[in-house]
This record gives sequence, C-alpha cells and structure tokens, in this order.
Amino acid sequence: SLKTELAELDKRHFMHPTSSIQMQQKNGPEFIFTNGEGIYLNEISGRKFIDGMSSLWNVNIGHGRQELGRVASEQMSTLAFSSAFSTYSHEPAIRLSKKLSDMAPGDLNVSFFTSGGSEANDSAIKIVRHYWKLLNKPERKKIMSRKLAYHGVSMGSTSATGIKEFHEMTTSLAPDFIYAPAPKPGMSESGNETVNLICIKETRELIEREGPETIAAFIAEPIQGAGGMIIPPKGYLQEMRKICDEYGILFIADEIITGFGRTGKLFGIENWDIVPDMMTVAKGITSGYMPLGAVLISDRIHGELIKSSKGTLFHGFTYSGHPTACAVALKNLEIIEEEGLVENSKIMGKEFAKELKQLEEEHWTVADGRNLGLLAAFELYEDPQNRKRFDSSLAVSKRVLQKCLEHGLILRSITYEGSDTIAIAPPLIITKEEVGKMFSIISNAVGAVEKELEN
Ligand code: PLP
Repeated sequence: SLKTELAELDKRHFMHPTSSIQMQQKNGPEFIFTNGEGIYLNEISGRKFIDGMSSLWNVNIGHGRQELGRVASEQMSTLAFSSAFSTYSHEPAIRLSKKLSDMAPGDLNVSFFTSGGSEANDSAIKIVRHYWKLLNKPERKKIMSRKLAYHGVSMGSTSATGIKEFHEMTTSLAPDFIYAPAPKPGMSESGNETVNLICIKETRELIEREGPETIAAFIAEPIQGAGGMIIPPKGYLQEMRKICDEYGILFIADEIITGFGRTGKLFGIENWDIVPDMMTVAKGITSGYMPLGAVLISDRIHGELIKSSKGTLFHGFTYSGHPTACAVALKNLEIIEEEGLVENSKIMGKEFAKELKQLEEEHWTVADGRNLGLLAAFELYEDPQNRKRFDSSLAVSKRVLQKCLEHGLILRSITYEGSDTIAIAPPLIITKEEVGKMFSIISNAVGAVEKELEN
C-alpha cells in the first residue's frame, strides 16, 4: 500500500524533529496525515482524528482554510519572494508590521521578522545585547530565563530553555544564560501564594548574586507550555515586571504559544495587565499555514537603537519578512478578528473549566485541571490528595494518550521531572459540541486506564 511504501521511505530517509530515532527505525511513522478540516486531521489509512493540540499549539484557525491557500497562491504568482534586506521592502511585510503594532499591547510598535519561534527568540536575545552595547553597557549580557522554560532549539533559544533534556542533547550551550526558579504547577490557591513568594525571593537572590548590572533581559512565557503548562500564580508576572524595572532588566515575553487568542485574550500577557519591552511571536501568527515568527520591539528600545546605532544591524535572515508568509499571516489575523476567535477562545475556555472540574470529580487519578482560554492541562496522580506521582515505569499519561488516539483524539503528554501532565489546546474555532465530544473521549480514556491500574 501507499502507506507501507511511504513508511519505508520515511524510516530510511527522514530524520524527524523531537523523535526517538530508534523507535522511528523500528516502527516507522505511526500517522501519515493527508488532509484536514476544521479541528479534524485525516490519516492515510482513512482514520479521522480531532487535532486536540492544534498540531503544535499553532493551527489556531483550524485546518483546510481555503482562503489562506488562495492568498498564498496569489502572492506566489505575483511576488513569491523578494528581499527585505537594508533598503528593499514590499507591501506584505509593511502591512503586517503595521497590523502587529495595532494588535500588540503598549508601545510594541516595531517588528523584526524570522521564520519561526526559535529564530525570534535568538533575535530578541541578540537585539537586547546589541541595545545594551549601544548604550555603553556591554556587561549587561546575561539572559535570565526560568527552569522548565521552553524557548526553542537554535543555539540561543535552546540555551534559554530550562529543560534538562534539551541541554543534555548537546555538549555545550551558549554562555551567559542563567535560570530563575519557575512557579510550580498544580498547587492550590493558597499553596500558589507560598510558591509565588519563594519563587520571587529566589529570583531576587539570583539577580543579586549574579549582579543586576550584568543581566540584559528576562525572558518568559506568560504560561510555560512545553515545560508543563504552568499558569503562574496571581501576582507573579506583575512582580517580575516590577523587579525588571527596579534592576533595569528588559522583559521579553515569549508569546509563541500564548499569542493570537490562545488564552482568550489576544496575547497571554494581557491576562496580567503588564507590558513587556519585547515580545516574540510565531505559531498562531500564520496558524501554521506558512513558517513565520517575529520580534516585537517597543518604541522606547527602537528609539534608542535609532539614536545610538552607528551602522548596519548585522542581523537578518534570508527569509526575514518573507512576502508569502507575511501575506498569509495578514489573512490569518483578519480571520481571527472577523470570526471573533479570541472571544470564542474565552467562551470555550469556560466550557473547558467546567469539563476539567467534572473530570476531576469523576476520576480518582485526576487533579490540577487548569486552563486559560483554550490552553489547558490536567495532571494524573497515584494519590492526588498528596500530589503523589505514579511510578514513571507505568507510563500512565502515555497510556491515556494511546486510549484517546484509539477513539480519535490527538493530545500531548508532558513527563519532565516525573510528571504525568496531559495538555489540551484545540483550534480556536472549536464549538461547544466539539468540546463535549473531546472531553467524553478523555473521560473514557482516563477511566479505562484507571481500571487497568486497579487490576
Ligand atoms: N517558544 C515557545 C514558548 C514555544 O512553545 C516554541 C515551540 O514550541 C518555541 C519558542 C520555538 O518555536 P519554533 O519551534 O517555531 O522554533
């Protein structure tokens, strides 16, 4: 069959991102997707799945949107590519940078484009260091991120990432990265406040120990995604903004998952009413229809760059501001606005909260259900009361995922530091009925695994 043929070629020639090379060699690809529509993905053998993760937290407007295909085709037929280096420009990148300025909070009015999130974070890191250098403070070069942060896999962004496994993949990281503690996920309201205080106190101690005048910027996902879907406790991000101001450290919000409606607000940071000095975006900016990322820079920083710059900014990618990617992004952002998807994310988020609560009530293993809009997760525990984890050899979260798959739902598990976290993040076009359908599959899957565990 075609599937067998493709699977053999895949095994032989295709090194997959973030994959087990040995498993890949043994089994080949489990799914070969052929097309998608709305929240659904179809697989070559005829199976149909709900894409409960919007693929990689990115297909915000759902699959199979012909409008984006048309815009891409039009742009490709007129000007597929031209450079944006130096004095060259073109309308799609100009219009998109204006659009982002209108959407972004505060004075984040200037965009630098990349092909994805990792490049956006690397660019942000280089731009803040460049900024301090121009201000005659080259010693401000350390980047403070957080434990369990995920910022990507290029050299700078993987160094900013705070997940051990990504660091251990290679032998040396970029210098001048430091890691503040992250708030802990899944604590009760009162527990959260304690963690909050400890976390802030330890962050201050870290800054004092390193020397505040050596730190260029703090980079943080408003909600830590790949590291465990950690929604920060009340006041934490506001306090971090204050600390940054106090020490003159720039605040970079990594909105690569949380941007463009995912959390029920246009940007995640707006849940806490603070404005960062820079913001990185990717994923939902095109809903994955083209690769694109951006660094949004405040007028204040951009103004300093204009004032102090002495020549060329020696930073830029061939595809910085790719015309077709920018045209697709503009259309995608228009769809998000016209279809009220930020609002839908908020409304469906309320359904999610109800469903998560019910899941906890119905299942002895489930606790710490949490969501903001359509960014959600819950935990599986051997003893939820005492937050006692299952032995990792039981692979409980993987088994729940497998059972979900058997009933047509794709989700993701997060197992760093022994956790059994199930992440859920469907396209923002999801309906109430579809939310119900997803959670009934989840509930059945958890129930089936619980039965196995009881036997
Ligand atoms: N930052 C965050 C918060 C992410 O979730 C990701 C990707 O998952 C990245 C950065 C890296 O983006 P990309 O994979 O487009 O390079």
